[in-house]
Amino acid sequence: MPTIVIDEDHCKGCQLCTAVCPKDLVKMAEHFNAKGYHPAKLVDPKGECTGCTLCALICPDIAITVYR
Ligand code: SF4
Ligand code: SF4
Repeated sequence: MPTIVIDEDHCKGCQLCTAVCPKDLVKMAEHFNAKGYHPAKLVDPKGECTGCTLCALICPDIAITVYR
């Protein structure tokens, strides 16, 4: 099953990944990361991630790795 892993301490909270996911599976976390930003997180309880890589491609900080 495809999924993503977000390296949250490299995330700057720009939210681009949340906007681009066709399944709307990427949300912003409530907590702060080491840089003081709310990091992105995957919310995919039904396993809907298709591994399309759009979130990883748009991330300016290369913080998202896609596994499929
Ligand atoms: S790989 Fe595609 S479907 Fe999965 S979280 Fe990223 S944008 Fe969404
Ligand atoms: S696109 Fe990258 S830096 Fe921006 S919120 Fe998503 S994971 Fe963080």
